[in-house]
Amino acid sequence: MPGPTQRLSELPIAYDAVIIGSGFGGAFSALALVEAGLRVLMLERGLPVARDEDDWDPRKILLEGRYAGPSPLQIRQYGARQPAPIYPMQMLGGNSVLYGGASLRLRPRDVETWPISYDDLEAHYTRAEDLLGVHGLQGEDPYEPPRSTAYGAAPPELTAPAKRIHEAATDLGWRPFRLPMAINFTDESRSRCVLCNTCDGFPCRIEAKNDLTATVLRLAVTSGLEIRPGAVVGNIEFTGQRARVVEGIDAASGESFRVEADRVVVAAGALGSPAILLRSGVHEISSGGDWIGRRLMRHCNAVLTGVFPFATNPEQLFHKQLCLTDFYEDVREELGTSVGTIQDIYTPSADVISHFAPFGLKTAAARFTRYMQNLLVVAEDDPGSENRVTLTAERDAYGHQIARIDHEYTDADLRRRDYLVGKARRILRQAGAWITRRHEIDSFSHGLGTALMGESPSSSALDANCRVWGTAGLWVVDGSCFVTSAGVNPSLTIAANALRVAPDIMAGQ
Ligand SMILES: Cc1cc2nc3c(=O)[nH]c(=O)nc-3n(C[C@H](O)[C@H](O)[C@H](O)COP(=O)(O)OP(=O)(O)OC[C@H]3O[C@@H](n4cnc5c(N)ncnc54)[C@H](O)[C@@H]3O)c2cc1C
Ligand code: SF4
Repeated sequence: MPGPTQRLSELPIAYDAVIIGSGFGGAFSALALVEAGLRVLMLERGLPVARDEDDWDPRKILLEGRYAGPSPLQIRQYGARQPAPIYPMQMLGGNSVLYGGASLRLRPRDVETWPISYDDLEAHYTRAEDLLGVHGLQGEDPYEPPRSTAYGAAPPELTAPAKRIHEAATDLGWRPFRLPMAINFTDESRSRCVLCNTCDGFPCRIEAKNDLTATVLRLAVTSGLEIRPGAVVGNIEFTGQRARVVEGIDAASGESFRVEADRVVVAAGALGSPAILLRSGVHEISSGGDWIGRRLMRHCNAVLTGVFPFATNPEQLFHKQLCLTDFYEDVREELGTSVGTIQDIYTPSADVISHFAPFGLKTAAARFTRYMQNLLVVAEDDPGSENRVTLTAERDAYGHQIARIDHEYTDADLRRRDYLVGKARRILRQAGAWITRRHEIDSFSHGLGTALMGESPSSSALDANCRVWGTAGLWVVDGSCFVTSAGVNPSLTIAANALRVAPDIMAGQ
C-alpha cells in the first residue's frame, strides 16, 4: 500500500468523505465509497505492522505490547474502585490484524430488537465473506442462519488438538462444526497459512491471515482510497448541525491538521468512536446525544483450560477450527438473549502462561503448559447503561482528553458464561483432561454498542442507517452501533453492516 506523500497539515481541503479508523467498519465503508467514485481519505492513528519475526514472538506481542499506542484508556472493571490505565494496540487495519479470523453471522433472533432484520444484512454478509476470503462449510452449524450462497472455499482438515475436541463433543451428543475462518488456506497467488500456533492475538508474519490490510484496504487503495496512517484524530468540528472538519495531530511530526469533508464517517471502534464524539460535543448537538458512550458490551468471555496427562499439541499446530452453538437458544425465553458459543482456541506459550499465573504457581504453570488445552467461551452480555465510555479531564501526549471506561457484568451475564463454562468443562473432561480452570478475560477485544442504532433519538444514538440523530453528514459505522452483542464474534457483522449503510453515506446530506 502506498505511504503518505504529503504532510498531513497540507492535505487538500474538501474530500467527499473522511473516514476515521481502518478497522472493519472503516475499511468496508471505504471500499464501498471509493467504488462508487467518491474521493475518500482514511485517517488511522496506527502504523502498518512490521511483518517480521517479532510479530510471532509471544513475548514481544503479548507481554511487551509491541504495538501499544501512547494514549491510554482509563479502565475500571471487575468491581475495582479506581480505573487503571491500559495502552491499546494500534495499527493500520485495526484489530483485524490481531484477530482470530472467526467469521460468524448473527442469527435472525439476535437482531429482533435492532431497527433492521437479518434479511437486511444477508446479501452484505455474503459480500463481506467473499471479500474476506472466508473458508467454511455450510450445513454443519445446528443454528446456522439462512444463507443465499455457500462459502467460497472449505477449511483445511482438523489438526490433532481440534480432532480431540471434535470427538469429545460428538461423544457427548453435541454437534461441533467448522469455524468459518478469514484465513488464506487455498489461494496460491499469495502466502498460504502454515497452521502456526501464533495467530489469534498476533499479526500474521507472512500475511496469510485475511486481515483488512491484506484484503479490503488493499482493494480500496486500488480504487483510489487515500490512507494516512499515524493520523490521530482529536475531534470533529461542526457548522451548525453539520459535521464539517476533522481535526487531529500528525503523530510523526506533532503538527496539527484539519481536513474538510462533505461526509464524516466515524469508525474508531466501540471505545474510540464515542471518545471522539464526546470530545467534539456531539452529545450536546445530537437529539440522541444522551446515548453516546452508554450501553457498552464486550461479551462475557472466559477461557477454560484443561490439563491433560499427555502433551496436547507437541507439533504446535493451529487449531482454532471448531465452534459449538448447540446451547445457543437455551436461555432465550428466560433471559431474552442467546447463551453464546464455545470455540476452540490455542494455548499460549509457557512464558506467557507463567506471566499471567497467580503468584506461587508461575513455575508450575510454565512446566504444565504443554499438557494444557483451552476452550473459549463467548457469552452474550447485557447492555447496561452505566457500562460506558466517558471523558476524563486528563490529556494524552497529543493533548486529547483521555477516555474512561466503566464496566461491570450483570448476574445474568455471569450465568450465561458459567452455563457455557460448564459445557466446555464436560468437553475437556471427556477429551481426557484431569483438571480444568477458568480464566476471565479483561480485554475489550469484543467492545460493542456505545452508539446504538434505533428507531428514535429518545432510545438511540444513531438512526437505522447509522447516522447520528439530529446532525448532518455524520455516521458511526463500527461495532458501536450494535444493539445487542449476540453470542458470536462481531467482526463479520460490523463489515456487513458497513456495506449495508454505505448507500446512505453515498447519498450524503
Ligand atoms: C486478539 C483479538 C482477537 C479477535 N478475534 C476475533 C475473531 O476471531 N472474530 C471476530 O469476529 N472478532 C474478533 N475480534 C474482535 C474484532 O477484531 C473487533 O470486533 C473488530 O476489529 C472491531 O472493528 P471496528 O471497526 O469496530 O474497530 P477496530 O478494529 O478497533 O478499528 C478501529 C480503528 O480506529 C483507530 N482509531 C481509534 N481512535 C482513533 C483516533 N482518535 N484517530 C485515528 N484512528 C483511531 C484504531 O487505531 C483502529 O485501527 C478479536 C479482537 C482481538 C483484539
Ligand atoms: S495460523 Fe496461518 S494465518 Fe494465522 S498467523 Fe499462522 S500462518 Fe498466519
